[in-house]
Amino acid sequence: MVAAQLAAALRAGVRLDYAGDPQRPAFRVLPAQRSLVTALLAPATKPETQRVLRLVADYRAVLLRLFALAADAGGASVEARARVAVQDEMRLHDELGPALASMILSATEQEYAAATDSCAYCGGQH
Ligand SMILES: [Zn+2]
Repeated sequence: MVAAQLAAALRAGVRLDYAGDPQRPAFRVLPAQRSLVTALLAPATKPETQRVLRLVADYRAVLLRLFALAADAGGASVEARARVAVQDEMRLHDELGPALASMILSATEQEYAAATDSCAYCGGQH
């Protein structure tokens, strides 16, 4: 329920800001979008919203780890770390559900590309 509401809010343009605390993303909401997060922050829902936001933060972190590993030259230690990261990615993807996970994936791809000037998947510039 919260995951679906959060996915809908992100689709409508609400942004998550990790600058303050990467473990606790904050909503960035235009005044006109305020109603999209009102239900998520209502007292009865807020604890679940915070739990899902922690999973989102974990998912973003594991994706950034995978992107950095993809840009790495390779070798056995990269492969071992990639295997662990892929396990984490699949677990968090299941917990978030496909709709929310794909919203976080595209936001994190854009964030990574903007921060590093390189492709999230091959490390190239294109
Ligand atoms: Zn590429």
